[in-house]
Amino acid sequence: MGKIIAIANQKGGVGKTTSAVNLAASLGELGKKTLLIDIDPQGNATSGLGVNKRNVKKTSYELMVADAPFGEVLVHTPFKNVDLLPASIDLAGAEIELVEFADRPSRLKKAIVGQREQYDYILIDCPPSLGLVTLNGLTAADTILVPIQCEYYALEGLSQLMSTVRQVKRLYNPHLDVEGVLLTMYDSRLNLTMQVVEEVKKYFGGKVYSVAIPRNVRLSEAPSFGQPVLYYDRSSKGARTYLELAEELLEKNSEKAVV
Ligand code: ADP
Ligand code: MG
Repeated sequence: MGKIIAIANQKGGVGKTTSAVNLAASLGELGKKTLLIDIDPQGNATSGLGVNKRNVKKTSYELMVADAPFGEVLVHTPFKNVDLLPASIDLAGAEIELVEFADRPSRLKKAIVGQREQYDYILIDCPPSLGLVTLNGLTAADTILVPIQCEYYALEGLSQLMSTVRQVKRLYNPHLDVEGVLLTMYDSRLNLTMQVVEEVKKYFGGKVYSVAIPRNVRLSEAPSFGQPVLYYDRSSKGARTYLELAEELLEKNSEKAVV
């Protein structure tokens, strides 16, 4: 049964979407059937997979708010083993519209739970907030993957994020666990980066991936071509490190299965 991983951090610009798109493509490349669910109204994961937000009829908004059937929202992408539930700006209204539902934290979970058998991994690209839409992501998920940008104030907001995770565990999703913590825009030459790494490791210990994603211009160019970096420039450092991350993630999950 597919494992559902929410990629979340309420800070914007830390590499959530870049990680969601490129981890999905890398898992697909390694033979894992992967679904990426875009629940950010900005729809950057949607356009990053080459899907025009204006051409999609139904999105994760209709899935959560209007009971749209999964099959009507699903898009098959040209990238190996990668499917997408797209997002559009309509989702911005969902924060308010969801309030009316008694089952508001679990709308997404209910919409996708029957599809788990079809996938090895389901990744959810969360918006940069801790509102109801992100809450739906965390309630649907088995685990949370937290990208952290190696910069000043990297740890700011993390205690709030982890207290939200504890609250979701207590109220809606008792098995929610931390999948891993990913250092992004890493530069080992910078003292600052190394200080951030120290602090993040103090806080999260063994949950921090040994693969860190370097700053790489190919990673920032690829979305404007509607492609994961693996397809845009396979030999780039960005493509190689996201593949290594996928391998590390798979290895950690097979370890767990054996134990
Ligand atoms: P979030 O989804 O957390 O808001 P994004 O993944 O959209 O963050 O990244 C923010 C910006 O930084 C984007 O323009 C993206 O292309 C760029 N970016 C992300 N990761 C890297 C990286 N490792 N190297 C260079 N640019 C990056
Ligand atoms: Mg994003």
